[in-house]
Amino acid sequence: MRLILFGPPGAGKGTQAQRLADCYNAIQLSTGDMLRAAAAAGTEVGLRAKAVMEAGNLVSDDIVVDIISDRIDHDDCKNGFILDGFPRTLAQAEALERMLAEKSLHLDAVIEMQVDDGLLIGRITGRYTCTTCGAGYHDKNLQPKVAGVCDKCGGTDFCRRADDNAETVMSRLKAYHDQTAPLLPFYQKRGCLLTVDGMAEIDEVTQQMKALLGAG
Ligand code: ADP
Ligand code: ADP
Ligand code: ZN
Repeated sequence: MRLILFGPPGAGKGTQAQRLADCYNAIQLSTGDMLRAAAAAGTEVGLRAKAVMEAGNLVSDDIVVDIISDRIDHDDCKNGFILDGFPRTLAQAEALERMLAEKSLHLDAVIEMQVDDGLLIGRITGRYTCTTCGAGYHDKNLQPKVAGVCDKCGGTDFCRRADDNAETVMSRLKAYHDQTAPLLPFYQKRGCLLTVDGMAEIDEVTQQMKALLGAG
C-alpha cells in the first residue's frame, strides 16, 4: 500500500497513519516527525528547520524532498508507506511523482481528510504524545485508558510540540490554505483522490478509510 494522507494540521493524519500502517503492514512516513528528530539531533538541516517550524511556516522543498527521497529507498518501505504531511506544495508533489516514476512505483491513493478550521485549533492545542513510543493522545478527545500511562507501551512520559500553540496554528492554517490545498485539484486530475469526513470519531474515520482502500 502506498498512500498519501492529506489534510490540514490537526486533521488526524498522524493518528490514522499509525493505524493504517499496522493494518496494511506499511511504514508511516511523517516529514514533521523526521524534521523534529533532525532538530533534536542538532544537525545543520534540523536546526534550520526548527526555527521555520516554530514560526508555523513550511520548510523548504529541497530539504523535505531530499529527506523523503532517501527514506523511501530503505528496505522497510518495500511493503509500502503512508505519507503523512508530505507533499505540502505543488513542487513537492511534482518531485514525488518523478521520484516514484523513476522507481517504477505507483501510488494507490491520496485520501483527503476534511475538517473545518474551527475544530482544528482545539485538536492541535490539546494534542500530546508518548515520549517513548510516539502514540498520539488528546486532552479531551483521546485520553489513555489509565491516566498518565500510555496504552501502547506503558510509558509515563508525555510531550507537547513547541508549535502546537494557538498563535502558531494560525500561520500553519494559512500555509495549508495557501500552499497545500492547491494540491487537491492536482491529485483530482490524476484520478486518485478519495475523501473522508475527518470530523467523525477516530474509529469511524479509520473504518471509512479501510472501506475505501479494501481489506488489509
Ligand atoms: P495531524 O497529524 O493531521 O496533524 P493528529 O493525528 O496529530 O493530526 O491529530 C491531532 C489531535 O486530534 C490529536 O491529539 C488526536 O488525538 C486528535 N484527533 C485525531 N483524530 C481525531 C478525530 N477524528 N476526532 C477527535 N480528535 C481527533
Ligand atoms: P501538522 O500535521 O500538525 O501540521 P507536521 O508534524 O506534519 O504537523 O508538521 C509540522 C511542521 O513541520 C510544519 O508546520 C512545517 O513547518 C514542517 N513540515 C512538515 N512536513 C513538511 C513538508 N512536507 N514541507 C514543508 N514543511 C514541512
Ligand atoms: Zn507509549
